[in-house]
Amino acid sequence: MSTIFSKIIAGEIPSYKVWEDEHHFAFLDINPVQPGHTLVVPKQEIDYLFDMDDAAYAALWKAVKTVEAKVRKATSAKRVVIDVVGYEVPHVHVHLVPTQELSDYPVPPRKNMEPAEFEALAKQIADA
Ligand code: AMP
Repeated sequence: MSTIFSKIIAGEIPSYKVWEDEHHFAFLDINPVQPGHTLVVPKQEIDYLFDMDDAAYAALWKAVKTVEAKVRKATSAKRVVIDVVGYEVPHVHVHLVPTQELSDYPVPPRKNMEPAEFEALAKQIADA
């Protein structure tokens, strides 16, 4: 079954398209964190960013750079914050959120950790 983003790319579901090339499609997020919040999606339907092959992965970030410049120019953003979440739609997409200050982008609460926990986790990750 195709994802909602594949249906948008195919034109079966409407979207506010801002850019596309042969392998990517960019459109406004329907539930924006800030006005101009844009999603960049590879046309290839793949769930998890880091499962993409190297060429497609590199091409996606080049597309993100192209779209970021357009979003920043159009919104006069100081910084366009990017994130990749994917819990809602299982089709790779990069969020681009134009911001003027840190409070324009919701950052989750941070954890308090003891030095020993940092050490154990750093070792676990380094050894993985
Ligand atoms: P996530 O998968 O957690 O990265 O979130 C998926 C994002 O897709 C959310 O920010 C939604 O608002 C957005 N979204 C879902 N459906 C649509 C749609 N039809 N058009 C535009 N954005 C959408």
